[in-house]
Amino acid sequence: MAEQFDLVVIGGGPGGYGAALYASSAGMNVALVERDALGGTCLNRGCIPAKAFLETASVYRHVAHAADFGIESSAPVVNFATTQARKKKIVDGLVKGIGGLCKSRKVTVFNGTGSLGAGRTVNITMADGSTAVAHGANIILSAGSVPRTIPGFDRGGPIMTSDEVLDLDYIPARVAVIGGGAIGCEFASTFADLGSAVTILEGLPKILPGLDTDVANVVVKSFKKKNIDIRTGVAVKSHAPTPSGGTVVSFGEGEQLEVDVVVVSVGRRPFADLLGLQNTNVKVTDRGFVDVDPWCQTSEPGVYAIGDLVNTPQLAHVAYAEAILAVKHMLGEGPMPIAYDRVPWAIYCHPEVAWSGPS
Ligand SMILES: Cc1cc2nc3c(=O)[nH]c(=O)nc-3n(C[C@H](O)[C@H](O)[C@H](O)COP(=O)(O)OP(=O)(O)OC[C@H]3O[C@@H](n4cnc5c(N)ncnc54)[C@H](O)[C@@H]3O)c2cc1C
Repeated sequence: MAEQFDLVVIGGGPGGYGAALYASSAGMNVALVERDALGGTCLNRGCIPAKAFLETASVYRHVAHAADFGIESSAPVVNFATTQARKKKIVDGLVKGIGGLCKSRKVTVFNGTGSLGAGRTVNITMADGSTAVAHGANIILSAGSVPRTIPGFDRGGPIMTSDEVLDLDYIPARVAVIGGGAIGCEFASTFADLGSAVTILEGLPKILPGLDTDVANVVVKSFKKKNIDIRTGVAVKSHAPTPSGGTVVSFGEGEQLEVDVVVVSVGRRPFADLLGLQNTNVKVTDRGFVDVDPWCQTSEPGVYAIGDLVNTPQLAHVAYAEAILAVKHMLGEGPMPIAYDRVPWAIYCHPEVAWSGPS
């Protein structure tokens, strides 16, 4: 027998928990299905841990240059285990906080994997292997995204995506970052500030493609001062692991680079894999995004999709905005669609840059 809810949300990242908390505040009876930790990519494997690392880099940078300000100190030494412990404490505290908010707003949290069945039914395989069924008058799909990979650079050993890099317990001496987008630049900035030799390998003619050139140039200038080697217009081809645990990356016209860690940062793909959409009328684009109208409605009545699962800017605040838009729409409050060309963007490398509007 299915439990009945006004809204069932699949995925507990910023989009999903944002929708669940907003809807419950509006008086809806809400279920939230999350297969991993509440908070999603942003809190567990994205924005928050990456910013915790960037803050460590910032403190190190300041102490290393303290003498310039008339403050004498010995050369700073990084204890990356402490950095990781600090990151974990921040993440754990925030995950607990979201759990507390769900509890206080009476959101029913299912710790399991949800897939969409017929008639807005969600079949849930719980973490302990048991099953549950929840029926929603409305459904929100908010299953987020996972890192994209590139052929020949399978995850493992020195080949990492943001997921693995954020669990490193040491600072690699030599790092290659494949992809000069926002996430790649944040890692490049962090490691360069912490003393790694960093090379960015970007296939396009410039890093931070899509950004206003004036903004991107500020970052390029500062990265060059940090001795980050920026190689643009180069395709990476393959890599050959070395006995020491590193690898030699082949790129461009026969060039090679030996590093200890490769950060593959070539974007994120929507993660609809476990949602069971093949059994529904929900349409998925050829790039894997769930197709929605300007109010985040899918082609299945009463089913909405938001956040990184849809083809809009992959940002936590966009996921929140879409969550509120979808809930308001199901409440009949007639919201205006989101003006995506006015979304604020920020990259928290050093220096931090932010922009909004057409570039
Ligand atoms: C390194 C890094 C840094 C970033 N920095 C920033 C930043 O500074 N600012 C910013 O705005 N954005 C940043 N982002 C992007 C941001 O993390 C995402 O845009 C945001 O997390 C998207 O939220 P979401 O709710 O759509 O999906 P997610 O956060 O990916 O959450 C989806 C959740 O759904 C769960 N799930 C998936 N399938 C199922 C299923 N079938 N059943 C149950 N649960 C399921 C997953 O376990 C996950 O918890 C960063 C990302 C990364 C990787």
